[in-house]
Amino acid sequence: MAQSFFGGVHPHDKKTATNKKPIEPLPPPAQVVIPMSLHIGAPCRPCVSVGEHVNVGQLIGEMTAYVSAPIHASVSGKVVAVEPRPHFSGTDVLSVVIDNDYQNTLDPSVKPAEHPEDLTAEELVEIIKNAGVVGLGGATFPTHVKIASGLGKVDTVIVNASECEPYNTSDHRILLEYPEEVIGGAKLLARIFGVDKVHVGIEDNKRNAAQLLQQKIQADQAPVAVELLHTRYPQGAEKQLCQSITGRQVPPGELPAAIGCAVFSVDTAAAIYRAVYQGMPVIRRIVTVSGSGVMEPKNLACPIGAPLSDLLDCCGGVSESTYKLLMGGPMMGNAQYSADVPVGKCTNAILAFAKDEERTVEHPACIRCGKCASVCPMRLQPLFLYLYQQKGMLSELEAGNVTDCIECGACAYICPGRLHLVQAMRTAKQQVNAARAAAKARAENKGGESA
Ligand code: SF4
Ligand code: SF4
Repeated sequence: MAQSFFGGVHPHDKKTATNKKPIEPLPPPAQVVIPMSLHIGAPCRPCVSVGEHVNVGQLIGEMTAYVSAPIHASVSGKVVAVEPRPHFSGTDVLSVVIDNDYQNTLDPSVKPAEHPEDLTAEELVEIIKNAGVVGLGGATFPTHVKIASGLGKVDTVIVNASECEPYNTSDHRILLEYPEEVIGGAKLLARIFGVDKVHVGIEDNKRNAAQLLQQKIQADQAPVAVELLHTRYPQGAEKQLCQSITGRQVPPGELPAAIGCAVFSVDTAAAIYRAVYQGMPVIRRIVTVSGSGVMEPKNLACPIGAPLSDLLDCCGGVSESTYKLLMGGPMMGNAQYSADVPVGKCTNAILAFAKDEERTVEHPACIRCGKCASVCPMRLQPLFLYLYQQKGMLSELEAGNVTDCIECGACAYICPGRLHLVQAMRTAKQQVNAARAAAKARAENKGGESA
């Protein structure tokens, strides 16, 4: 068993509702709404017009900057609108709306690379970029940028198969049903970075997937090593995973590349394989639909842009007492106020919770138990950071390294006073970053005046 990291919590994993359920295709949606912002970085510019016919895999959104990722049609049919539509971030975002013709016509641009074994690292990265591959574990950072910024620095490549969020089983099912794609993607990453082997970090509550991967790796003699990890939240956070596998710690304010590591999710590795060997861009997500409010929890293969309401309907709908809808896991997911938003590249789970799971209290209050500090994997002091944020003490927040908070929610989970710690950390990070940007702008202005 690999090493471990500081802090963390052991929430009930609640995965039995879906971890034995094979991935089912979502019935084809009548319409998809594909936002031009499905990644971290600059939004895309639509390159199709109303009335145009599009095919599956056709480019519909072009990159407008280096830190971006192109966007492709997930169904074939007619473009009926290019306009702002509700997005899972809570705002309206420019989107391409396509009425499905149910023909599933593949675009001629979707074809495998010729002689993939002869491609250079640069040619592979170009294919990954053009396929719109982003961090599909939820971060959605463009993969071509992550790879390019790590070339020459990274000596350890990790596939993150820990899936430590409760309820989520989409990665687990991908490992069981598409192991060749994950291993194939890992092999491509080994070639790109020029490393001897790729590590797959997997929690020990998914031993059947670890055993299957081992068998496939041995049969293929692939340069991939399975690392079994303790089941502990947030094992799947990048910095914690790097520490568990290599023993190296990412310094405050730095990224895994600073200690020679690059981390890719299970579905990102599989998407890299599909981009190279099938020519298929990122047009679908495997989504776990679960939670006490869902009638029949499932794992669904969904076209990007399908409405969340279709996913819930496919699972028998939600109970009348449902009080909360989340995109993502219960620890780090984002609340959704409507099911009329689309599936994005980041959507690995949709959870609905019935009333009896409500954990909020009317008057949250700190009892100074110190539990939040003992579980914080970034060794922060959430209690004090919370107080500083409430009082607007920006320099104290900065000195307390609040920008290192990974918003994992471990502190809020353990807090008996039910303080809204994650919201406070999120706000504090925004305030500190805004203050830093303002100070930088002031310094630049001053430099310009005195020049
Ligand atoms: S949310 Fe931030 S402060 Fe809270 S435990 Fe996670 S890293 Fe620490
Ligand atoms: S865990 Fe909650 S109640 Fe305990 S010290 Fe931290 S903020 Fe206060």
